[in-house]
Amino acid sequence: MSEGKGSPLQETTSKVADIQLGLQHDLDALKTQLSPRAVEDLKVKYLGRKGQVTALMETLKSLPKEEKPAAGKIINELRQKLEGELEIWRQKAEDHALEQSLTQHKLDISLPVQTTTGQGSLHPVTLMRRVLLAEFRRLGFTVYDGPEVDLDFYNFSALNFKDDHPARDMQDTFFIGERAKTILRTHTSNIQIHAMMVEQAPLRIVAPGRTYRCDSDLTHTPMFHQIEGFVVDEGIDMGDMKGVIDRFLKAVFGQDLATRLRPSFFPFVEPGAEFDLQCVACRGKGCRICKQTGWLELGGLGMIHPNVFEAVGYDSDRYTGFAFGFGIDRIAMLRYGLADLRQLFEGNQQFLGQFPIHP
Ligand SMILES: [Zn+2]
Repeated sequence: MSEGKGSPLQETTSKVADIQLGLQHDLDALKTQLSPRAVEDLKVKYLGRKGQVTALMETLKSLPKEEKPAAGKIINELRQKLEGELEIWRQKAEDHALEQSLTQHKLDISLPVQTTTGQGSLHPVTLMRRVLLAEFRRLGFTVYDGPEVDLDFYNFSALNFKDDHPARDMQDTFFIGERAKTILRTHTSNIQIHAMMVEQAPLRIVAPGRTYRCDSDLTHTPMFHQIEGFVVDEGIDMGDMKGVIDRFLKAVFGQDLATRLRPSFFPFVEPGAEFDLQCVACRGKGCRICKQTGWLELGGLGMIHPNVFEAVGYDSDRYTGFAFGFGIDRIAMLRYGLADLRQLFEGNQQFLGQFPIHP
């Protein structure tokens, strides 16, 4: 700063000129080191609490009263000019910083988008469900849906599970609510009851869906997919049942594998059976997959129990029917040669990407 002589006003004018000169010098230097931080530093240097303009403002106190207004005006104009100028430079510095960061990262927006997985594929369970439904539609079945959260009545009572029936314990149920009357369905058989309570016989229905049991190991997951099917009409017998099962298993696994029924028990059918398919891996010779039996268990079926017809208000003297249910996940496992059921639910892109887009 100059040691100005002359009137205090002239001295102020001279100091203002010094500050402007100093700023000009700083701004020239800034051009080579442009950054928002450097601009902020200049702002502090000139306009901050201990800045040069602020200090100059302090000198007003010691000026003669008559010169204060003119000197104050000069200093205020300086302040406003500096504020405006530094604001312009702040904006320049930010633009410059953005431009630099874009250049450094070499972002070429004209490059084609990189995809890691290419075109998507269908989940094996979805694929299997579509194959099965297509076959059942060919056989004249209608596809039906039902609730996953349901009342005990639809999942158990109406399906002839008595209150104290041990079969309720066979299916480790997830209960909802304190009174345990609402549950996550343990099988898709609840759809039989829902359908028969609103539809009149004759019926030919399949119903795929998610089911839930408190169970988890190599061959069980807490959520799994089932497909339920049932036929109700006058004069339906076990021959019809065997024919339908045979037909769709051959459609899925090929024409040359045998199927068989083994007597079994389910409360909602009488007689009940489990159905097996000749082992897809060894074709009946016996291997690790079929535990040397030559057969694979696929699901359960049977003639619909008269008590079920009574629960839904059907005339059990007039109508007969059969029902069947099996795991879609297990069929997918066998059809696509998967080693572990849990692979289906881990969401591994590499694994899932192997499957086709169409069934
Ligand atoms: Zn085998």
